[in-house]
Amino acid sequence: MQQPEATVTAAPLPPNEADRLVALHRYGILDTPADPRFDRIVALSARLLDMPIALVTLVDAERQWFKARQGVDLAETPRDISFCTHAVSDGSMLEVPDAIQDARFIDNPLVTGDPGIRFYAGAPLLDENGHALGTLCVIDRKPRHLSEEQRALLSDLAGMAQDAMQLHRALLEAEQARADAEYANRAKTNFLAFMSHELRTPLNAVIGFGELMEAEPFGPLGSPRYQHYAGMIVEGGRHLLEVINAILDLTRIESGKFALQREAMTVGEEVAVVTGLVRVQADAGSVALALDAAAVGALPMISADRSALRQALLNLVGNAVKFTPAGGQVSITGEEREGWLRLIIKDTGIGIAPEDLRRLGEPFFQSGPVMARRAEGSGLGLAITRQLVALHGGALDIASELGKGTTVTVSLPLA
Ligand code: ADP
Repeated sequence: MQQPEATVTAAPLPPNEADRLVALHRYGILDTPADPRFDRIVALSARLLDMPIALVTLVDAERQWFKARQGVDLAETPRDISFCTHAVSDGSMLEVPDAIQDARFIDNPLVTGDPGIRFYAGAPLLDENGHALGTLCVIDRKPRHLSEEQRALLSDLAGMAQDAMQLHRALLEAEQARADAEYANRAKTNFLAFMSHELRTPLNAVIGFGELMEAEPFGPLGSPRYQHYAGMIVEGGRHLLEVINAILDLTRIESGKFALQREAMTVGEEVAVVTGLVRVQADAGSVALALDAAAVGALPMISADRSALRQALLNLVGNAVKFTPAGGQVSITGEEREGWLRLIIKDTGIGIAPEDLRRLGEPFFQSGPVMARRAEGSGLGLAITRQLVALHGGALDIASELGKGTTVTVSLPLA
């Protein structure tokens, strides 16, 4: 025969119920798997207070859900028969010494049926705004009383459960922030890659037609004035193309699409090629370029991407020459030590202020007063170089003193 449905006195809703539910859901903790931090707290509560049942409950809109449980197998119960909801409504500790003596619970199916509650004590789990989100509760199947000390203990253990909840939320928020940042960064990289690519085609037309105009010294475009304009178009276009290519390089590296084509190679050879290329620029600027060919030539072979390494070295030696005034010197040497190969590029140039040194390698960062920057720079070379070296498992160290000069050390692992 079917039992008549029990009449239970559901707890009144807390005054701030809507806010309380929003606060609870922000923890993202409902229906998550078991967590040893909470399991330890219920085990400790049951043991210290000598109870067969201990729970961390969270009171949702229609149910109470157990984040941790000892002594019962239920995962949740309907909210209207939950003892904990009474503690949540009140926001203070609830102790029911004997459920069958209490009009609120006498017909409760958790009392009349499984798990046969007689004694209940629950301490609310409060958030920082005082919302009671659930309880830490202990339950017995016989009537009981908690001493003052036991009540204090239950309250302290509830404090630990609150801390565990806050940790859970903080970890979730940190994970969310990390995912958001990664998404934003990927979106930025994709946008830059797409935009640079789209800009290249029309820009090549601008440069190409500018060159055609430059090559026409007769007719309506032959006047010195128009030849000058054509020259400016070509020069500006080429600089822009360089910047766009640098952005494309950087985005390719950042999005992980850049795969090194490693081969066994001697670094000395590449350094000699790069020095040869930069020498034209050094001579034009009256900067002495000294290559310690013996030291660099003696460096062992490494496995590296030849063109990536050349691009990195070209940028570093190019910068050293570019930022060294006439009469100065740039020297390049190398050494092998403790499984690392080092290339040292030292200049007697303008140097870098300590506050700028920290920011070097940030994309688009150029140090010094605006006027001191050379028109041909983009501020991307070092960022790319740092990444190219890092892809090889190496590192870039920059030491500099304003007005004295800069020393850049490229370290590459030999293994
Ligand atoms: P840029 O295209 O401007 O050279 P980089 O990324 O290669 O871009 O360099 C960034 C900035 O770092 C430069 O604008 C310059 O201010 C500074 N810098 C780089 N190398 C040197 C150097 N050897 N001496 C002084 N300043 C340097």
